[in-house]
Amino acid sequence: MMISAAMNTKLNEQVTAEFFAAHKYLSMATAFERMALKSLKTRFLKQYQEEIGHGMKILHYIEEAGGTVTLEAVPKPPSDFKSVLAMAQLAVDGELEITRRIHDIVALAESEKDYATRSFMHWFVDEQVEEISTMTDILNWVKLAGDNVLQAEALVRHSLGES
Ligand code: MG
Repeated sequence: MMISAAMNTKLNEQVTAEFFAAHKYLSMATAFERMALKSLKTRFLKQYQEEIGHGMKILHYIEEAGGTVTLEAVPKPPSDFKSVLAMAQLAVDGELEITRRIHDIVALAESEKDYATRSFMHWFVDEQVEEISTMTDILNWVKLAGDNVLQAEALVRHSLGES
C-alpha cells in the first residue's frame, strides 16, 4: 500500500465530505426548483454532479494506491433555507471548508513525504480556486440583486451561457 493508514483515513473522510457537498447542492437545487429559479437549480445540479465526480475520483485513487475504501454515512443536508442569500452563503462556506480539508491532506502528504498523494491532490487544490470563485460570483450577484431575486437568476443564466 502506497499510502499510510492516516492518509487512508483522511482520504476516506474526504470522499464523505465530497458526497456531503453533493448532497447539500442537491438539496438546494430542489429548493430552487420549488422557487421556480430554474437557472440556479441548473447551476446547483451541475455542481452536485461535480461533487459526486470529486468523491469518485478520490475513491478510485484510494483503490489505486492500495488503500481500503470505507464509506461512512453522509450527513443529512439542510433543507429549510431562509433565503437565496443564505443558500449562496452556505455554498461559499461549504467550498471554503472543503478547501481547508484539501489543504490538510496536502500538508499531511508533505509531512509524510507521500509525493504520489501530493501530486494527486494538486488537481483538487486548483479546482477549489475555481469552485470558490464560481460560488462567490453567485453570492455577489444575489447580494447585488437584493430583493429582486430574478435579477440574480438572470445573471446565473447568463453565466450558464443560456441568455
Ligand atoms: Mg468538491
